[in-house]
Amino acid sequence: MSQPYDLVVIGGGPGGYEAAIRGAQLGMKVACIEKRVHKGKPSLGGTCLNVGCIPSKALLDSSHRFEATQHDLAAHGISTGAVSIDIATMLSRKDKVVDQLTGGIAQLLKGNGVDWLQGTGKLLANKVVEFTPLDGSASQQLQAQNVILASGSVPINIPVAKVDEDRIVDSTGALEFAEVPKRLGVIGAGVIGLELGSVWRRLGSQVTVFEALDDFLPMLDKALAKESQKTLKKQGLDIQLGAKVSASQISDTGVTVTYTQGGAEKTAEFDRLIVCVGRKPYTEALLAEDAGIALTERGFVQVNDQCLTSVPGVYAIGDLVRGPMLAHKAMEEGVMAVERIHGQAVQVNYDTIIGVIYTHPEIAWVGLSEETAAAKGHEVKTGQFGFAVNGRALASGEAAGFVKFVADAKTDRLLGMHVIGPNAGDIVHQGMIALEFVSSVEDLQLMTFAHPTLSEVVHEAALSVDGRAIHAIQRKRK
Ligand code: FAD
Ligand code: NAD
Repeated sequence: MSQPYDLVVIGGGPGGYEAAIRGAQLGMKVACIEKRVHKGKPSLGGTCLNVGCIPSKALLDSSHRFEATQHDLAAHGISTGAVSIDIATMLSRKDKVVDQLTGGIAQLLKGNGVDWLQGTGKLLANKVVEFTPLDGSASQQLQAQNVILASGSVPINIPVAKVDEDRIVDSTGALEFAEVPKRLGVIGAGVIGLELGSVWRRLGSQVTVFEALDDFLPMLDKALAKESQKTLKKQGLDIQLGAKVSASQISDTGVTVTYTQGGAEKTAEFDRLIVCVGRKPYTEALLAEDAGIALTERGFVQVNDQCLTSVPGVYAIGDLVRGPMLAHKAMEEGVMAVERIHGQAVQVNYDTIIGVIYTHPEIAWVGLSEETAAAKGHEVKTGQFGFAVNGRALASGEAAGFVKFVADAKTDRLLGMHVIGPNAGDIVHQGMIALEFVSSVEDLQLMTFAHPTLSEVVHEAALSVDGRAIHAIQRKRK
């Protein structure tokens, strides 16, 4: 057995690589085991950097520029002539962004003295980790003082639409279409369905999204869900709610989808079909039977609030454990686990994890929705203000959407912030900071927001909780 490590991290995604770096910063001898090979090269960064957050955002940006160039520039007096897009160039730009970032993580690990072990890690009993190198050389056993499991998640497959990597793909395949499908079907109106559906719609596909549930984005505040459904529909996404796919048939010309909706069986024809019905924790070959790690019924590694598993000294983080499957949640859990190992009493605040859907406009939220706050017994008050009369939003032609605050009527304490509109994913951080500091609505009302900025809508929304927004005729006054 080799020299013992203070910390062995299995998985080099956002959760794992951040944990490894933080461990090294705290003086630990750290190994990070990552088995991913992306486009022929061993690669760090996990789902997020290789086939998730980053490549999807690169395509969202390219497709948005394509659509905006066609439709938004004329109003500024800019004429462009015929606009076309070269898909191969768009995909290779995306690949370059991924390469730059994954290469950067490798440099960071090296610079911090973390051993990146390229291959598969498996937890055995007594905090021994078996490492099987990618290059086919013999497995080694590593003794670890502490272990962090960070093996992430993989897409859920459904038997009614089996991925064949050609006509039927998952989110990874949908980042690689070599040409724009004329008719594109999407199963699942979740975050991936709406983001990747938007990409290909902007590039010219007719997109139909099938969602089994009757409600659209049920985790959102209802006002936000309603507005986003309206906006995406107006943009041309055909969202079919209460539509459960029961079969799919691939032919030479495409794929036929059978679904039931309102008790009736219907069919639809597509050139390509994306299956994005959720992701599941990835534990294949990760745990020896005698490793002692308990799993939940749904296959997640069981952890407490501090990400400690059923084995002392073994933590699990990110998509592998309960909670939202988000890169920033994985990252903060990784840092928390390492700092706990180091003896620091830190705790991730799970009440202030931000959600963002990167459609246009963006949809972002933090804290409680109006409905959840009421269900939790709060006497709720709310305030909402639109971007439509905001000078900066109008000047840049991005005046759709609103900011909504949810607060406790008795204490004035802020409970949640919900944004649909320009830069919502950035603007919502103001609400996160306010929630972290247990702010009242009055705190936000009393602050001075720069003019002309989009953030003035945040101020007006806080004022409108008490009927005091300046750029609106408000009936309730205080
Ligand atoms: P992962 O990123 O999945 O990393 C785990 C790594 O562990 C993998 O690279 C895997 O190869 C490796 N591994 C697994 N088992 C072993 C083993 N036994 N030995 C060695 N290595 C192993 N989240 C956001 O917050 N914002 C977004 O915009 C966003 N967009 C997304 C878009 C798409 C299309 C997808 C699919 C996901 C997106 N996500 C987004 C979710 C985000 O990617 C995940 O929440 C995040 O990557 C989870 O990080 P993780 O470290 O837990 O796991
Ligand atoms: P999701 O859970 O967000 O949505 C899946 C949807 O598919 C659900 O609405 C579900 O009701 C529906 N569905 C399930 N089975 C169905 C069926 N047979 N027919 C029709 N609809 C069906 O999952 P996702 O979109 O695959 O995303 C996976 C994870 O990746 C999410 O947890 C998300 O957090 C993460 N992600 C985050 C971002 C972001 O933060 N912007 C972007 C992409 C992915």
